Amino acid sequence: MQLQETQFEQTIAEPLSFSGVGLHSGVDVSMRLIPAPAGSGVVFRRSDLDNFEIPATGRNVAKVSYATSLMRQGVLISTTEHLLSALIGLGVDNVIVEINNLEVPILDGSARPYVQAILASGTKRQRRKREYIRILKPVEVREGEGPNAKFIGVYPGEGYAIDYSIDFPTPIGQETFLGDLEAGDYANLIAPARTFGFREDEAMLRNMGLIRGASAESAIILTRDGVENGPLRFSDEFVRHKVLDLIGDLALAGRRIWGKVVAERAGHAMHTALVQRLMRDRSAWELATRTAPQTESAVEASLAFAAIA
Ligand SMILES: [Zn+2]
Repeated sequence: MQLQETQFEQTIAEPLSFSGVGLHSGVDVSMRLIPAPAGSGVVFRRSDLDNFEIPATGRNVAKVSYATSLMRQGVLISTTEHLLSALIGLGVDNVIVEINNLEVPILDGSARPYVQAILASGTKRQRRKREYIRILKPVEVREGEGPNAKFIGVYPGEGYAIDYSIDFPTPIGQETFLGDLEAGDYANLIAPARTFGFREDEAMLRNMGLIRGASAESAIILTRDGVENGPLRFSDEFVRHKVLDLIGDLALAGRRIWGKVVAERAGHAMHTALVQRLMRDRSAWELATRTAPQTESAVEASLAFAAIA
């Protein structure tokens, strides 16, 4: 029998600072990630509002359309998904996110700046065993019917497997990504994938008060003819970004999923609807600790995250 190590919670080794502009609000924002005690989770702290705190949990999910926002007692924190994705992807359980405005900065449109900063300064193992949301039975959310129906479901399974399919207008078309967050390499294969938008939607979105901070440095911009500001970081960067968003939105369940997620043409609203359905159905999951997976070679880990397009 091989001895396996139980997995423990982690925080970051030292404070990390980021500054930039909010994708939708266009406001300038400074943000600091601060190490936090075991068991505290991810908590946003509005330094511009007397350090008012908003825990990153499904209970605080507010309006969700083009980004995921949290709200507590009328205080908002918007576009949380890329930061939360990076934290879950790297196994950082506890952190205080001190921020001086209402939206997380978009940076380069991906989770890579967070991942690079956290990997460079390191993480700190804590004394508490990490608890996972172990899925015991399927939970599904459907919207619409026919070929344009949206779907997301979570199922029992080992690891944190993701099967994501998208179907967007030209030039994206259909892409599918299969991977396992437990075995695979989040930092290299998911974190760099950037958000994207269509040039022809720009005026409509701006009229809705959205994408005021968008630029060619913070998003892939598409026309019917192709990518306006290439090159892409991956040939299937679009579906990889949807996986990045999914991981960040499901982080609002409060703990990492232990099971398999299947998503078809989903988005933030479907992702967070699944979190809320899951939280309501207490018979569908249990909190469980787990041992670390067997050590794999980097090549095997990469293959586990192989994409099919
Ligand atoms: Zn995104």
